[in-house]
Amino acid sequence: MSPAAKSGPKEIILHGLGVSPGVAIGYVHVRESGSIAVPEYSVRGAQIEEECTRLDGALQTAQRQIGRLQAKAATMPAAAAEEMGFLLEAYQQMLKDSRLVRGAYRRIRDDKINAEAAVQAEIKDITTGFEALDDTYIAARMDDIREVAYRLIRALTKSHVKPLNTVRKGAIIISEEMTPADTAQLNPDKVSGFATVLGGAQGHTAIMARALGLPAVLGAAGLLGHIQSGDHIVIDGDQGRIVINPKPATLAAFEAKQAKHRRTLSRLTRLRRQPSVTRDGTEISLGCNVELPIEMPGVLDAGASSIGLLRSEFMFMNRDDIPGEEEQYKILRDIVKAMDGRTVTVRTLDIGGEKLAESLTQDIGDSAQSALGLRGIRLSLKKPDLFEAQLTAILRAGAHGPVRILLPMVCSQQEVRTAREILMKLATKLKRKKVKIADKLPPMGVMIEVPSAALTADALASVSDFFAIGSNDLTMYTMAVDRTDEQVAALYNPLHPSVLRLIQFTTEAALRARIPISLCGEMAGDPRYTALLMGLGIRELSMSAHALGPVKQRVREIDLAAAQNRATVIMGQTDSGRIAMLLDDFNALV
Ligand code: PEP
Ligand code: MG
Repeated sequence: MSPAAKSGPKEIILHGLGVSPGVAIGYVHVRESGSIAVPEYSVRGAQIEEECTRLDGALQTAQRQIGRLQAKAATMPAAAAEEMGFLLEAYQQMLKDSRLVRGAYRRIRDDKINAEAAVQAEIKDITTGFEALDDTYIAARMDDIREVAYRLIRALTKSHVKPLNTVRKGAIIISEEMTPADTAQLNPDKVSGFATVLGGAQGHTAIMARALGLPAVLGAAGLLGHIQSGDHIVIDGDQGRIVINPKPATLAAFEAKQAKHRRTLSRLTRLRRQPSVTRDGTEISLGCNVELPIEMPGVLDAGASSIGLLRSEFMFMNRDDIPGEEEQYKILRDIVKAMDGRTVTVRTLDIGGEKLAESLTQDIGDSAQSALGLRGIRLSLKKPDLFEAQLTAILRAGAHGPVRILLPMVCSQQEVRTAREILMKLATKLKRKKVKIADKLPPMGVMIEVPSAALTADALASVSDFFAIGSNDLTMYTMAVDRTDEQVAALYNPLHPSVLRLIQFTTEAALRARIPISLCGEMAGDPRYTALLMGLGIRELSMSAHALGPVKQRVREIDLAAAQNRATVIMGQTDSGRIAMLLDDFNALV
C-alpha cells in the first residue's frame, strides 16, 4: 500500500544504518510509552534492602539508556544537539539525586512497599500539586519528571511496550529502540518496516529484520523529534535513508526502487531448484538460520539444504515463564518434520547480552546483560534443570529426523565435555524409560565465536563433532566492538586481518581433525564474502532464507581455484582496506 503524498507537510530526510534491505512505504506508528501496569505489594525484613537494590539497578539501567541517547544526540546538528543535550543532562541529574529518587527510597523503607510502587507513588505525589497550575513551563518539567519515572518503572517491571501486534496494515514502526524480543513480535503481514534511534547493524534486532524480510534503518539520530503517528514515510533499508512526508517525485522514485527490489527477489527464487555448485563443480551446502517458526515457509521455499542454525532463544522470549520440555519438544518436532530428512542444527539457549528472557535472567542481574557475562553455555551449565529440559526435548525431536546440537559461547574443552556427559546421561535415562529417541546420539558441536575458542580450535576439535563459526560474535569480541552499538558500527569489520586469521585457523583445525565446519554468522549471507570463505576452505554456509538466492547465484559464478588463489593473497595482507580492495576487485572480475 503506498499512500499518496500530500503537498502540505515538509519532506524531511534522515540518515541511519541500513540494516535490512528493501524499501518500505507506509504510515508511521510511533511506539508510545503507554501506561504500565505497576504491581504493588508489601515487603518485610530483608526484602526491604532487596527492593532498594532493585531500585539501584533500575537507576543504573536508566542512566545507561540516557547515556546512549546523549552519545547519539551529540551527533545531531548543532542546535538540536544542544537542546537534546540539556534535556538529557537534566534526566541524568534527576536519576542521580532528586526528590523523585530520594522519595522512592524513603517510601520503600517507611511504607514498606516494592520499588516500582514506590516510584509510582512518589511521581503521583510530585505531580498532583502542580497539575492545578496553568503554567506551560511547569507542565513541561512535569513531563520530564514523568519520563524519568516511567523509565525507572519500565526497568523495574522489565516491561516492554507491546502495542506492536495491534497496528494497522502498512505500519512502519518508529521507536527509540527495538529489542530482539520486540522484533520477534512483528507480524510482516501488518508491519512494513521499522526505524529506531538506537541499534547497530550486527545485533539480533537487525538479524531478525533481515530474517523477516522487513526493511529497517537503525541508529537514526533525531528520528523522534521529527515524526508523528500517521505521517507518510519511506524506509530505504539499503541506503539507510528515512523520508518523512515524501514529495510526489520522491515517492515515485522509491516506488520504482521497491518494484525493482521485488523483481530481483523473484528472479532469485527461480534459482531455488538449481544446484549450489561452483563453476568447476564443487558443491557448497547452503543452509538457513531460523530465529522464529514463522520463517519456516521461507526456508522451505528457498530450497535450503539444512537448518544450519536454529536460534532456540525464540521459545523463551516475550513470556513470563520458562517453556517446559514437552512444549520445546513439540516446537522442535514440527520443525524437524517440516525439514523432511534434512538436518536441523539446534543451538542450545544463547540467552544473554541483548537477548533477554525475563523468566531466566531475573536472578542474574547485570551479568546476563553483559556481553562478557553469564550467557550461552555458561548459563546452561549453571542451570542444569533448564539445560536438561532443552537437551531432552532435542533428543526426542531427533526421533523425527536428523538433528545436531550446537553449543554457544564455548571457551573451553571442559564445557563441551560436561555438556556431553549430561547428554549421554539423559539419553540413557530416556532409553531406559522407553522414550523414543534416535538410535545414535545427535552430533554435538560448538560455535566458534570467541577468540579463545578460535585460538584453541585444534583442542576443541578433539572433543567436538562439528564446528559452526559465528562470525558476528567472533568479529565483536576480536575487535572489541559492540555489535549492537551504532556509535561504533563503522569499526565493526569482519575483513580485519585478525578476524580472517581466526577464521582461517579454525577452518584448518577442523579440516585436519576431519570434522564438518560451517559458517553461520552474517558473513555467510553476504555474497561479498562468499568467494573468500570458499577460498579459505569453507564448504557449508548458513544464512537467512532471503540471502540464499543471492549467495547461490554468487557460488555458481565462482571458480574455486581462483578463489583459493585470491584468499592466499588476501591472507598475506595486514591492512583491512587493502583486503577489502582485493576482495572487491575479485568479485567484480569473477
Ligand atoms: C554469531 O555470533 O555469528 C552467531 C551466529 O550467533 P548470534 O548471531 O546468534 O550471536
Ligand atoms: Mg553468537
